Amino acid sequence: MANLIEIKTSETFIVDLMYSGTANMLKTNVYGRVGLGNRCFVQSDLYQNLQKLIPVLQSRGLRLKIRDAYRPPLAHNMMLEIIPMPGFFARKPELSQHCHASAIDVILTDDKGQELDFPCAVDAYSPFYADEISAGRWDDFRHHLEKAKYTWNDPAAARAVANRDMLRRLMEQAGFTALEHEWWHFNLPDKEKYPLIDFSLWNGQPVFTER
Ligand SMILES: [Zn+2]
Repeated sequence: MANLIEIKTSETFIVDLMYSGTANMLKTNVYGRVGLGNRCFVQSDLYQNLQKLIPVLQSRGLRLKIRDAYRPPLAHNMMLEIIPMPGFFARKPELSQHCHASAIDVILTDDKGQELDFPCAVDAYSPFYADEISAGRWDDFRHHLEKAKYTWNDPAAARAVANRDMLRRLMEQAGFTALEHEWWHFNLPDKEKYPLIDFSLWNGQPVFTER
């Protein structure tokens, strides 16, 4: 058994998991299919880091929208079936910290829940690119993915770049590690501490098992 902690929508956090609906680049509700739905579970170390953010975000009138957290390995395998091309998802669940509940995908919003400007959407998804991907047109999307990197800069998007860099600062101060090619993704350091975690439902209740 693994003890994960659930984060619920509150004054500071908004739980809106992108794979618990169809508005994602897979156009598939994979978390619904595996029974997780829009429920956000994390390692207790990750939960503790998020607690440190609460006063900082509140003092700035900001909230943190969580777009992905713990991902059941079964859901990850479904994602690999839908998009088998390399470079989009980790090659197997073991390699994704989401499947270890030690990673989180986030974006800042204002106090009303309106997303601040960022260089691209979380996961670089937009309906336009979902259609492109469905049609097998990858080149545009790969180019668009440049906006996911911290190296991306554009004087015309100064506010988006500043928000991106502010998010990184806040998350690093709270103990997270950033990923250079995905501004929305943050890991717990020392990933070997966290085993792969399987998910099942028992009488409708989530059960987490360390593999
Ligand atoms: Zn992620």
